[in-house]
Amino acid sequence: MAIELAVELIGAVAFVLGVDLVTAGLYAVVPGPRVKGYACDRAGEPLPYVLNGLRVYVAGLMLVYWLHQLELVPLDYIATHFWSVAMAANVVGLVTALGLVLWGLRPGRYQGARRCLTADQAGNAAARAEFERPHEAREQTFGFHYYTGTEFNPRFGALDIKMYLYLVGALLLHVTLLSALARHVDMQPDGAPSRAMVIYQAMFAWFIVEYIYHEHVHLYTYDLFAEKVGFKLTWGCLVFYPFFYSVGVWSLVPALTPEADLSITQCLLVAVLFLVGWIMTRGANMQKYYFKLDPRASFLGVRPVTVPGTRILCSGFWGASRHLNYLGEILQGLALALPGVLATGSLWPLLYPAYYVALFIPRQIEDDEICAAKYGSKWAEYVRRVPYRIIPFIY
Ligand code: NDP
Repeated sequence: MAIELAVELIGAVAFVLGVDLVTAGLYAVVPGPRVKGYACDRAGEPLPYVLNGLRVYVAGLMLVYWLHQLELVPLDYIATHFWSVAMAANVVGLVTALGLVLWGLRPGRYQGARRCLTADQAGNAAARAEFERPHEAREQTFGFHYYTGTEFNPRFGALDIKMYLYLVGALLLHVTLLSALARHVDMQPDGAPSRAMVIYQAMFAWFIVEYIYHEHVHLYTYDLFAEKVGFKLTWGCLVFYPFFYSVGVWSLVPALTPEADLSITQCLLVAVLFLVGWIMTRGANMQKYYFKLDPRASFLGVRPVTVPGTRILCSGFWGASRHLNYLGEILQGLALALPGVLATGSLWPLLYPAYYVALFIPRQIEDDEICAAKYGSKWAEYVRRVPYRIIPFIY
């Protein structure tokens, strides 16, 4: 019994480490277009990035399939060994976070500013001085450093830790979802997936692939300039993404009778909700991205309107509420919960959109504070023009 358990756990650790390390290796060597980012290095220069995310992701999925073909790791491995794999990922996540934080606490490395310098502020003396100010790590407890991290964009040679973590999190999430699909197909009497499972998998695949496809856009987001790499981000990507974001799939794994399955109309309505959310979140992110690249460029044929004398957009998606992208993400989360709820009556899938609500309400408040510090009275003017935080006319 004890030996069986040990073999099970060793297998799970080997699997998790294998995925994490192979993805790191691929990320470091696979070529891709080189771009300058928005976040800056310690000298105030925009960080360069190699945008190879989609290639690494496809290579990772192909590798998993190949291991299945060789009968080394079955496609449903995570679904059939969920708790062992999740436990192994936890250990790897906790230890990796510890290593990164200890590495970042070496003298002179700690970055105490609330956000790192971004390309638009390179000429702003006050922002530069705050970013370059030597911050004392001793000002905070070790627990604080462990949780929030010590550096914004740490790198080991060609490996940008933050971009890598987001990528491996997305890959492991997709592998988890596909393993649930494989298990479900095995359990269905006719070997064909239910409609509820198909629509769920299709929406989530879209969510993951389009996220990785737009990695250049994410270089301009809060995650890149306001989040440090500590437990929150490391454990979040290595454990929380794959094993919590997939919460909506498990109720769909057991065999589903045709009577309990979603109708085509229900599938279409769920897909429409997902699409509306996607248009909001992707639309807002793209509008801001193109605006950051060229403040005069039109987006979807509409010329940008800004708070006078600033680079704060107050038209289009950014005129409807100050974070319509968060509302879109919550709607997408709700759409991803509905197949499980409607087909099986389980309420577990609702944890996924509930998590987004709990994440985005404080994040929006924090981003407002960060923007108020960056833009001063101009931000107050934006808040006056666009009074709603996330949901137009409601919140
Ligand atoms: P944003 O991309 O919205 O970034 C906020 C920053 O954008 C601000 O700090 C400010 O920075 C700039 N900004 C804010 N308002 C304006 C404006 N009106 N005009 C111009 N610039 C403005 O934040 P996030 O990184 O939180 O979100 C990015 C995307 O990622 C969203 O779609 C979000 O839903 C998604 N997301 C998804 C998660 C998931 O797990 N699925 C988790 C977290 C986020 P500056 O002035 O420096 O440009």
